[in-house]
Amino acid sequence: MASNNKTDVIILIGPPGAGKGTQLELLQEKLHLDYIGSGELLRERKKTEDFTGKKISQCIDKGNRVPTPVIFYLWMGKLEELSCKETVKGFIIDGSPRTLYEAEMLDLALGWYEWDQNVRAIFIKISAKESIQRLLKRRMCKDCGRIFPYLGEFRHIEKCDECGGELYARPDDTVEGVKKRLAWFKTDVMPAVRYFKKRGLLIEINGEQSVAGVSHDILEAIGQK
Ligand SMILES: [Zn+2]
Repeated sequence: MASNNKTDVIILIGPPGAGKGTQLELLQEKLHLDYIGSGELLRERKKTEDFTGKKISQCIDKGNRVPTPVIFYLWMGKLEELSCKETVKGFIIDGSPRTLYEAEMLDLALGWYEWDQNVRAIFIKISAKESIQRLLKRRMCKDCGRIFPYLGEFRHIEKCDECGGELYARPDDTVEGVKKRLAWFKTDVMPAVRYFKKRGLLIEINGEQSVAGVSHDILEAIGQK
């Protein structure tokens, strides 16, 4: 059994445009931890073209959120898979929790697998204004879906650095679309953030600085600097 109470669990949270994806990549490079991403799990699951697979595709195409029980069933599968490994140094969680009850469920799930001794929720903070500005300017690869934030060297990239694909602005990255996502973040996700704060697990990071600056602050906060 892989469970041990030294396992590092890092939960990444941030409003749209906070640069979570970029920070996730940097953390992975530096710490070599396992990864649980709701987006990735959904993309993987929809390849199975059964009832749930098709339903996930429909949901994503319409821009709807996949409901919690479905996300959690994917999540529990992934946690179970990790628990079978010889050792689990740690893992990074991205894309959930999106609500207060997802935070509570995650807490219980981590407790079940005995990975609840070293949990940190990293909240990358940026203002609504900054979020809107960044999202309106970010681009996505047509072929592989990689997101290019309007940050640092990514600003000048013309083709996808992974697959050479063409870059385009996401259709829902409009002022209206971004405002909707920000409102959702405030009503739904912020209660989860406050939950981790109450539990003493929250680390707030200033997201309105360079990519390297944010990365430095995160590593320092989790004692890896
Ligand atoms: Zn690409």
